[in-house]
This record gives sequence, structure tokens and C-alpha cells, in this order.
Amino acid sequence: MGLEAGLGEALRTDYFLLREEFTPAQLDYLERTRRFVQEEVLPVINGYWERAEFPWPLIKKLGGAGLVGGIQGYGCPELDPLSAGLVTMELNRGDGSLGTFLGVQAGLAMRSIAMLGSEEQKQRWLPDMARLEKLGAFALTEPDHGSDSVALETTARRDAESYVIDGTKKWIGNGTAADVVVVWARHPAGLPRHQAHGRHRGHPHLRRHRHHPEPHRRPGHHRRIRVQRRRCVNHHDQPSP
Ligand SMILES: Cc1cc2nc3c(=O)[nH]c(=O)nc-3n(C[C@H](O)[C@H](O)[C@H](O)COP(=O)(O)OP(=O)(O)OC[C@H]3O[C@@H](n4cnc5c(N)ncnc54)[C@H](O)[C@@H]3O)c2cc1C
Repeated sequence: MGLEAGLGEALRTDYFLLREEFTPAQLDYLERTRRFVQEEVLPVINGYWERAEFPWPLIKKLGGAGLVGGIQGYGCPELDPLSAGLVTMELNRGDGSLGTFLGVQAGLAMRSIAMLGSEEQKQRWLPDMARLEKLGAFALTEPDHGSDSVALETTARRDAESYVIDGTKKWIGNGTAADVVVVWARHPAGLPRHQAHGRHRGHPHLRRHRHHPEPHRRPGHHRRIRVQRRRCVNHHDQPSP
């Protein structure tokens, strides 16, 4: 479905003629995402909403569509910030859970690894994450700390060549499905800075519970995560600047 179609669905509405300022590449991202939503998402998403089930087949197709990235290199498609916003806008038009999924995967998890990860971590995770063959989560919010995230209580204590992480996180998108979880924790020195820790699926100190789904995001997965005395080897841990 091109940008010209959709008369009667208000999809052509562009009161401020914003589309005239888009580059051909930006228009292409908008058009491709719109087509994906029309052809793949809208015909099936209501059933996932009814069952409160995550649409895994759509994730697989989205991974092959070359729409997940916004990071230079590492096998990521070259989306500039406007293109990334257009992709997010269109995906959310189809379904808010898919939009949230993309925001967590590309905006939070991948970007954290790109900004703060070691070269080895970037090589290891980003190409697979851009294809959605590996999923990421971003664990900042805690049961007692949301907007005031700077007051987070999860600790990262240095122990020889490792860090030991202890704390609870809440509302973590992709929390159960993620292959890697970026956990934000405080160093006991009490400095107002955080450390990002790559955490892997399936280790014994990660407990995940699903929240009751919100009405508008029933297909989404949001988790409460208990990180109990998790030991991370030092070379996987990157202090923030
Ligand atoms: C669908 C969903 C997905 C999420 N995914 C993630 C995720 O993947 N990872 C993650 O870490 N977190 C995630 N979150 C958590 C989200 O980031 C927090 O909900 C958010 O930070 C707000 O925190 P809170 O819910 O504790 O609200 P609060 O911080 O308690 O805020 C409640 C209200 O008070 C207002 N308020 C707060 N402080 C002030 C102030 N100082 N001055 C004036 N007003 C104030 C806020 O604007 C808000 O209206 C998710 C949340 C949702 C709903």
C-alpha cells in the first residue's frame, strides 16, 4: 500500500505538508512500514489482543523487514532519527504493543549497548538484534522508583573480577522474552551514576513475572524482574561515562 492510498482512512491527511520535506529514504521507510502494518499486522492483531498473546510470527516478519535500527554500523539499517520516528508512528498505528516492543528493542536496549557496551558486546548483540533474532530489554524502573529513576536501589557491588547485582525491577518490556537485559544499578560508592550490565536469559538468579496486561497493550509482555545476587564477570560490564 503506497502513501497515495488510504482515502477514507485519513492516512493521506498531511495538513502541514510535512511529507513534502521528507527525503526519498524517509518516505520509503514510511511507505514500507505502512505496507507492513496493512498487510501483516491489521489482519491478525485483534486475535492476539483477545488472547493477550504476544504476536511472535509478526516479530519474525518485522525482523526481516529491515526496519529495526537507528544505529550506525553493526548490520543495522541506516535509519535517521526522523525515519525511526516514522517507523514507530506507523507501527503504533497498527498496534501499541508492537510499537512498545520496537521502542524497547531498538530505542532502549540496542541504543544502550551501542552507547555503553564494549566492542565485543556490540559485535555480539547488535546485528542479531537488528534482525530480531535476539531480543533485548532495558531494566531501569523499580517498584518504588519510576520517574525518579536516579534514586534507584538496585546495587552493583564489586567483588574481585566480578560485579554482584541485587535488586528488583518493574514494568520491564520484553522482560521474559529477552535474550539480553540491560540492568541499571547503583555502585555502593553512591555516586549519581549508573552502570549497565548485560544479563543473559536463563541464568538462575533472574526471576520474571508477567504483569496483568493493560487494556491497550494486551499482546505486550511487561515483567517484574528480581535480580538476586547475580554475579557478572568484569569484562562484560561497562561503566557509564
Ligand atoms: C507499557 C509500559 C512499558 C514500560 N517499559 C519499561 C521498560 O522497558 N523499562 C523500564 O525500565 N521501565 C519501563 N516502564 C516504566 C516507565 O518508565 C515508568 O512507568 C515511568 O518511568 C513512570 O514511573 P511510575 O509509573 O513509577 O510513575 P511515577 O514516577 O510514580 O509518576 C506518577 C505521576 O507523577 C508524576 N510525577 C512524578 N514525579 C514528578 C515530579 N517530580 N514532579 C511532577 N510530577 C511528577 C508523573 O508525571 C506521573 O504523572 C514501562 C511502563 C509502561 C507503562
